Amino acid sequence: MSAPHTPRPRIAVVGAAAAGLAAAEGLRRLGWDGDIALIGDEPRPPYDRPPLSKHVLSGAWEPERTALRDTGQLAALGLDLRLGTRAVAYDPERRELTLGDDGRTALRCAGVIVATGVAPRTLPGGDALEGVHVLRTLDDALALRRRLATPGRRLAVVGGGVLGAEAAAVARALGHRVTLLGTEEAVMGRVLGPEVGRLLAGVHRAHGVTLRAGQAVTGIRGEAGRATGAVLADGTVVEADDVLLAVGSVPAVDWLRGPGAEAAGLDLTDGLRCDEFCAAAPGLYGAGDVARWYHPVLGRHVRIEHRMNASEQGLAAARNLLSELDPERFGERRPFTPVPYFWSDQYDLKLQAHGVLAGADRTEVRLLGGDPLRLAALYGTAERATGVLAIGLPPRLTRSLRALIATPGPWAETLTRLTAAVDA
Ligand SMILES: Cc1cc2nc3c(=O)[nH]c(=O)nc-3n(C[C@H](O)[C@H](O)[C@H](O)COP(=O)(O)OP(=O)(O)OC[C@H]3O[C@@H](n4cnc5c(N)ncnc54)[C@H](O)[C@@H]3O)c2cc1C
Repeated sequence: MSAPHTPRPRIAVVGAAAAGLAAAEGLRRLGWDGDIALIGDEPRPPYDRPPLSKHVLSGAWEPERTALRDTGQLAALGLDLRLGTRAVAYDPERRELTLGDDGRTALRCAGVIVATGVAPRTLPGGDALEGVHVLRTLDDALALRRRLATPGRRLAVVGGGVLGAEAAAVARALGHRVTLLGTEEAVMGRVLGPEVGRLLAGVHRAHGVTLRAGQAVTGIRGEAGRATGAVLADGTVVEADDVLLAVGSVPAVDWLRGPGAEAAGLDLTDGLRCDEFCAAAPGLYGAGDVARWYHPVLGRHVRIEHRMNASEQGLAAARNLLSELDPERFGERRPFTPVPYFWSDQYDLKLQAHGVLAGADRTEVRLLGGDPLRLAALYGTAERATGVLAIGLPPRLTRSLRALIATPGPWAETLTRLTAAVDA
């Protein structure tokens, strides 16, 4: 008589992009020899998003170049790769994932890593109109790129955050008429603060972008099924052939809602709330844009929508899940305490930020040249330095600035060290 068949234990990773791929690769690299189901609702294998608002939108890169791994590399991971498949529910008690819009496929899992990212916010009135865009997926980028292939278009960009600023820069470089509609005088002001944000606004103006601040955009105006402009709070319409909505995003957690989630005490307010190990419940971990986890060094929950964090947290979640499943083999769980990092490319400028800039109560900016803009800035809260920003600086100097805030230090001392670094 043959031995009864015991199914191999399975870990499911939901979301097949940067964080999900890093988690799946991490599981394999760390030695998980059970099944790994990587489930993603997009039809494409994992691809990278930062180039979408830069090289893809400008036409410099063809879509294939955004692939995070080639077919051979993916095959070598031995994944149960389920693309074009939505996860629609998860029961934490039974550790059972439900897949597909018909909800017919159920997967029992030893553990689950949630890496479902975020979805773009929209504005009323735009859904059915041609010429209204968001910029999150490769298809979104290609749709806007096709429109920008016709010369002389009028593009209204709603939102002066990083996405809006990058798209505005690309559209200007392509020669289009661009209006950037924000609610502040500063570009990326929420993250960079008013002083640097105003300097960046100056850069966009110098490149010919029209900036309209001070009024919220309340909707999209359309005619005969096409967008004709963005409507401001006072009723004024900013006329445009295309409107890009870059007004923030919403964590993709709705699929997790349900009685099971409630019973397990999942908190889905602004993402999947996790502890310092990226765990939301026993056997359930979060990673990337969707995860709001407790950062012990910062002393609070944070959710970070940056590319590097997605990879680092995917790996951290994988490691900690394995440690929970088999502590003897995989060792103790470790808190996830990264120094956050993001970059942005606008015109010929590279912005690089290490640590936490948003919400700072003090900023000290060292201007190091006017055109193109070059600066180093220190950000801090309550007498502690928490973040540093480099614009247009060489990599070595940027690295030495990063070292200043690897562990948040006293404000005055860190500022002296920053001044010494940029003067050297
Ligand atoms: C245009 C653009 C430019 C950017 N530029 C920069 C930059 O210059 N620098 C920087 O640091 N960061 C940048 N970012 C941010 C960075 O790309 C993100 O932080 C990173 O991609 C997050 O990866 P993620 O895997 O957590 O989430 P995502 O990339 O959002 O991936 C989540 C995946 O899960 C899928 N999914 C959602 N729900 C389900 C479900 N129920 N079932 C199955 N699958 C599901 C989604 O469709 C998606 O494929 C940019 C982002 C965008 C959109």
